[in-house]
Amino acid sequence: MPEMLASYVAGEWYTAPDEGTVVLDAATGDAVARVSTTGLDTRRMVDHARRVGGPSLRRLTFQERAAALKELATFLDANKAAYHELSLATGATRRDSTGDIDGGIGTVFVFSSRARRELPDGLLLPDGDVEPIGKGGTFVGRHVYTSLPGVALQVNAFNFPVWGMLEKLAPAVLAGVPTIVKPATQTAFLTAAVVRDIIASGALPEGAVQLVCGGAGDLLDHLGGEDVIAFTGSSSTAATLRGNDAVAGRAARCNAETDSLNCSILGPDAVTGTPEFDLYVKEITREITTKAGQRCTCIRRALVPKSLVDDVIAGVRARLDKVVVGNPRNDTVTMGALVSLHQRDEVRASIAALRRASQVVFGDPLSVDPVDADADRGAFMAPVVLLCADGSRSEPHEVEAFGPVTTIIPYGTPEDVGPLAARGSGSLVGSVISYDPEFVRAVVTSAAPHHGRILVLDRDCAGESTGHGTPMPQLVHGGPGRAGGGEELGGMRAVKHFMQRTALQGSPAVIAALAGGS
Ligand code: NAP
Repeated sequence: MPEMLASYVAGEWYTAPDEGTVVLDAATGDAVARVSTTGLDTRRMVDHARRVGGPSLRRLTFQERAAALKELATFLDANKAAYHELSLATGATRRDSTGDIDGGIGTVFVFSSRARRELPDGLLLPDGDVEPIGKGGTFVGRHVYTSLPGVALQVNAFNFPVWGMLEKLAPAVLAGVPTIVKPATQTAFLTAAVVRDIIASGALPEGAVQLVCGGAGDLLDHLGGEDVIAFTGSSSTAATLRGNDAVAGRAARCNAETDSLNCSILGPDAVTGTPEFDLYVKEITREITTKAGQRCTCIRRALVPKSLVDDVIAGVRARLDKVVVGNPRNDTVTMGALVSLHQRDEVRASIAALRRASQVVFGDPLSVDPVDADADRGAFMAPVVLLCADGSRSEPHEVEAFGPVTTIIPYGTPEDVGPLAARGSGSLVGSVISYDPEFVRAVVTSAAPHHGRILVLDRDCAGESTGHGTPMPQLVHGGPGRAGGGEELGGMRAVKHFMQRTALQGSPAVIAALAGGS
């Protein structure tokens, strides 16, 4: 039997006594780890965070916390080869793992350096200017942020076991709030390896980080108005968490990053032969093959002018023909496995739902011949492209196939684009690929309220573009409506999600003594 993953509870490693759930290697089907939280004392975890982790973090100033993050990121960076080896068992190729592992560590470095530049060497963060209130100048106000005295519970999806944890941990540390990490069961073995190193590094004070490997159990029962739940996953789980009394009754903060039917829009000007046409085809194919399409930001809806649909299909086919699906341990492989056989079944079911309104124009959802792997034991799928000729149908705007899948949707006139984009009911990211400033302006103006991020891609920025699907630590990540209505990242904005904003009022001298300014 494989090793049971230990949880980190109040300064000790806890191993559940039962057999737990066995997690399988996504590509080989071999057992990798067991996971269970049977007997886990969740109340003790929350108490430890509040009594030990939080106060220890808050004895440090913002600058000291930023320095601790740098030390942590440096330590993890030196140990990352081991994470890369483990990551192969999640089905990720080495390139995919770079986004998760190096991307996660890089995010910690960015938060550290931004904090060193932008946060004060104190415990209190002023927000905005002093507001004169009394006509005589003796009474003013100023907003300040202080650390929440509770705990940040982060609940993560399976697809980014390292980045998903670190992008939430870094701002919580800066805010002076301890974290309980709850990774998805399927990829907890990788998160656990990194958390073991976080503890071993000694960079953060005891209690700043604890780990739950397995189900969350009754953890939420102990949370309330001082606490933050930072969730990434499906909208149905988000709804469950929001309905919990911790949130609905006791007003714990709950930030959710959920499903998203992200669109990418090709401009009518971007005809075959233009740099923008080539960029579009490249972006679509890269998006659906990176992490085998298991990114929340993946392009699910490709909005293409009717006259260019055949050309786009031909271009995408030519690129996808070169994709090599198989065991990520084989260096010729360019697309690995989905995270599990269960997830593959889910994706196939979603494709079946999409096919009620679409036809498959590339790939066979039920068959693939993976390199160096057994198609029955590993969770492999071919990339699949669908065409939905009638964009008024609901399926492509509502069904998320969380795998290497996208649907091409033709549009008639530029005026059709905004309403089509909005039919995703709120998305994490959209992209417009065009060199026509008027088209870009019209699309961005109508689509922005429905998106957390919009990439405008053209020949001028393509060389340095980070791509449609990659959230950046400097910019916000999250989206309205279906995407969860949450917001993460965005530089120091992220830190404030773990802090309380208070309006201070008093004499100019008192406010200046407390919050700075005059
Ligand atoms: P999921 O089933 O909602 O699971 C997400 C996390 O929630 C896991 O850690 C899971 O733990 C936990 N969980 C499930 N039920 C819970 C409960 N009742 N109480 C507390 N925690 C609970 O989602 P998934 O299938 O792993 O992830 C895929 C979905 O996530 C996709 O739909 C994708 O769109 C979305 N996603 C969104 C983003 C984003 O940034 N917006 C990023 C990645 C993925 P267990 O694993 O132990 O069940």
